[in-house]
Amino acid sequence: MRFYYHLGIVEKSSTSKDYKIVFSAYIRIILCAIFMLSTTAAMANTAASEVNVYSARKEALIKPLLDRFTQETGIKVNLVTGKADALLKRLETEGRNTPADMLITTDAGRLYRAQQADVLQAIQSKTLEQVIPANYREPAGYWYGLSVRARPIFFAKDRAKASDLSSYEQLADQRFKGQICIRSSNNIYNQSLVASMIKANGVEKTEQWAKNLVKNMARPPRGGDRDQIRAAASGQCNIAIANTYYFGAMMAGKKQKDRTAASKMALFWPNQDTRGTHVNISGAGITKHAKHRTNAILLLEFLANKSSQKWYAETNHEYPVRNDVEASALLKSWGNFKSDAVNLSILGQYNSEAVKVMDRAGWK
Ligand code: FE
Repeated sequence: MRFYYHLGIVEKSSTSKDYKIVFSAYIRIILCAIFMLSTTAAMANTAASEVNVYSARKEALIKPLLDRFTQETGIKVNLVTGKADALLKRLETEGRNTPADMLITTDAGRLYRAQQADVLQAIQSKTLEQVIPANYREPAGYWYGLSVRARPIFFAKDRAKASDLSSYEQLADQRFKGQICIRSSNNIYNQSLVASMIKANGVEKTEQWAKNLVKNMARPPRGGDRDQIRAAASGQCNIAIANTYYFGAMMAGKKQKDRTAASKMALFWPNQDTRGTHVNISGAGITKHAKHRTNAILLLEFLANKSSQKWYAETNHEYPVRNDVEASALLKSWGNFKSDAVNLSILGQYNSEAVKVMDRAGWK
């Protein structure tokens, strides 16, 4: 009884009446314990109800979706944005201490690098496997595509014709001498394009192709994809290679200059009679040392749901990764096309070979 006495529950002397009091004290203690346990559980739950994202995509392209995810699930998303290569370096440096649960970046070549750097883990999700076509995800589940971009040929309407064009391979023909604008070989988009050609045609043929393509360049590579389209529009070259979303952004953008430049250009889908136009993705993977793995998988599945796909693709003028979500009206206006169906992880596997081929070809 002393214990209860100290708690002030019963009086010093035990009487039969006291047993009732003791009994009610037991109940109180049990209730108290239950309350404390549930509070601890709630706190643990609060701590677990977040997910940390490293994103190489700009905040405006992803934040509104993350906010919607928080509204729907109560899971807080902490977002760090940065340059793709810097974020990968950071993940490597942080190792097991990284706060990041998910890496969002562009190009399968980069996702493959992250996988090779051992900063991602494979995850299985029936939902993701059902909605994301197999060629747009890593076979073991290390990363998943979230949007699709193509890298077609653009031509100046007043100086070139669609009927003169057919394939990437054909751009090495002598008749295109001095006509082609394309960015540098240290750009991942070109590395992935060349990787797709090595996969299709082999190293030797691709190297010969690259050598001839370099001879056909109107100027030493410089600038980004938009700059190639602008250069062709202004007459520095007739043909440019660029990702579709840059063309979309120029057409629909605020800059009158870019809208005018884009209006002088037309899009051509190469390789329609063979393997199809080269495509790539933006995508995401769960980090190897994710502390909020379950939440990260939930977020990945959320980003792949129908309404997220629609928003995510349209915001950056990309194609949804899902076949059952329609592209925007602008993208549809470019027509349907056959895309290269190669599994994009292959592009990662051929990346270093592609870099060497471009080096040997003198592609700056
Ligand atoms: Fe880009």
